[in-house]
Amino acid sequence: MARRFSLPKLVVATHNRGKAGEIRAMLKPFGVEIVSAGELGLPAPDETGTSFEENATLKALAATRASRLPVLADDSGLSVHALDGAPGVYTADWEGPDRDAMVGMRRIQDELAKRAVPDTDSARTATFHCVLALAWPDEHLELVHGTLDGRIVWPPRGQGGHGYDPCFQPIGERRTTAEMTDEEKNAISHRGRAFRLLVEACFK
Ligand code: IMP
Repeated sequence: MARRFSLPKLVVATHNRGKAGEIRAMLKPFGVEIVSAGELGLPAPDETGTSFEENATLKALAATRASRLPVLADDSGLSVHALDGAPGVYTADWEGPDRDAMVGMRRIQDELAKRAVPDTDSARTATFHCVLALAWPDEHLELVHGTLDGRIVWPPRGQGGHGYDPCFQPIGERRTTAEMTDEEKNAISHRGRAFRLLVEACFK
């Protein structure tokens, strides 16, 4: 049985304003005040874990130890099955030093071409992952994991979303997640699913 969250304030361990805003909107009905780690000047720890769970946990615990407040942290990425799960926890690193998603998408395409992976739905399967870690100041943790299955397409298509969305087409869809509205993507996405699991487990 998950621990229910009943504290008035929650730190979101992200320096990304977009993510903090999304989380604020999601938790609005529950009357929780959201502050971001950026606003509190908390340092971002190195993501040294080898799984999404480990990285979300280390980000949540570092921020709760520094702030003595409860913290919600996330870790996400894209696993391409024909690449043995790469880039996985290294998804952001594959975007290069300028964090350019086009660089990461091209690298995936190059690696698939190098391995002569055919351009079919069944050969180019991939999964988006999102793990959310909710940490209390006594270091109690609740973790949820949301996924979205699809395939890698080339060339990239669409202007919406962010990151690797233009090269990812969910199963049963003809559009990439970058060709969907935010609402359509959130309804099926790894992050949307993880949020809904967390709300069910800890906020209702
Ligand atoms: P994180 O911020 O360390 O969790 O890194 C996440 C990485 O996965 C970044 O490279 C993002 O671009 C990518 N990523 C995570 N979620 C999505 C998504 O919903 N669409 C596209 N790329 C994503």
